[in-house]
Amino acid sequence: MIKLKTKEEIEIMRSAGRIVAEALAMVGQEIKEGMTTAKLDALVEESIRSNDSVPAFKGYHGFPASACISINEEVVHGIPGERIIQSGDIVSVDIGSILNGFYGDSAKTFAIGEISEEKQQLMEITEKSLLAGIDKARNGNKLGQISAAVQKVAEENGYGVVRQLVGHGIGRNMHEDPQVPNYGSVNEGPVLKTGMVIAIEPMINCGTYHVKTLPDGWTIVTADGLPSAHFEHTVAITENGPDILTVL
Ligand code: MG
Ligand code: MG
Repeated sequence: MIKLKTKEEIEIMRSAGRIVAEALAMVGQEIKEGMTTAKLDALVEESIRSNDSVPAFKGYHGFPASACISINEEVVHGIPGERIIQSGDIVSVDIGSILNGFYGDSAKTFAIGEISEEKQQLMEITEKSLLAGIDKARNGNKLGQISAAVQKVAEENGYGVVRQLVGHGIGRNMHEDPQVPNYGSVNEGPVLKTGMVIAIEPMINCGTYHVKTLPDGWTIVTADGLPSAHFEHTVAITENGPDILTVL
């Protein structure tokens, strides 16, 4: 069941979203080669808690950290630890917050030092695919129009669109109906309505769309070992069009 949000609830979600945006902006300032992913995670937790918010991922199905930090061929759900961030890495950081019972969820991929042309282009196209999807998040559109728009941008650049993981509705729970796939046809899925809030989150691979889970039970990696990027925003569908809630 898709739960529509009132204008008041969307304003609370905007506050939750701003806290995530602030944490991601901080990551953009602080992330550097030589830093462990555990250190970066500690900074994220501090940022979220300094806004009287709770890190949504910590303890979620047993996840041990505040941020998912996924490097290079890691797609999503990387566990922060003693791994040292290196020049040439692309680092996807996914952050969730809870404020007054509502969730915010956003992710961004960061370039460390000099990165390859291949990784640079992957990052640009993945973000472009997210924006193309957001542009279709309009009252009266089919959800599949979002999916198809993301897929088109990614595939016309020769990339693989991850199928095993999808975006989602969001509100009083991190994951609500509907699922928001990053692939599909314009005729699929429910009709979008004012008051729906969804997290759109393309996970785009340089190679094929196939992924696998590492033995830690969390980290998703590309099956072919090629790099992957991830960008995500929480978006409300309003009478005035898409309203991105995870911004400063
Ligand atoms: Mg996320
Ligand atoms: Mg999400």
